[in-house]
Amino acid sequence: MPDTVFGKIARGELDADIVYEDDEVVAFRDLNPQAPLHVLIIPRKPIATLNDVAAADAALIGRLFQVAAEVAAREGVAEQGYRTVINCNAQAGQTVYHLHVHLLGGRALQWPPG
Ligand code: 5GP
Repeated sequence: MPDTVFGKIARGELDADIVYEDDEVVAFRDLNPQAPLHVLIIPRKPIATLNDVAAADAALIGRLFQVAAEVAAREGVAEQGYRTVINCNAQAGQTVYHLHVHLLGGRALQWPPG
């Protein structure tokens, strides 16, 4: 897959406000936040979209959501509530083709999303 800004962030080549990182996962604040808390959780492994997840990636995908919950707790939104979102491809609004989970919180979120 072509390189992306998130690939550069994962490799430390582009600055980001990183709130969590380990060998497999990086979480950083969105540049254009849509809620008081808006963090993106990505695998270091470049996977373009949710459609490209292989069976062997199952644990890694689970880890993204574990990290989302950990960040939500640390940022103080776990009890009030928060949302995790993966946009897949153009019609869902995906703009960066490196798989990422949006963690949104800190305000009441509308349902259904637009
Ligand atoms: P998507 O629309 O692909 O689901 O989400 C991409 C998100 O990445 C958007 O919310 C956008 O604001 C954010 N974003 C795009 N480029 C950068 C960047 O260089 N740094 C950070 N921190 N966020 C970015």
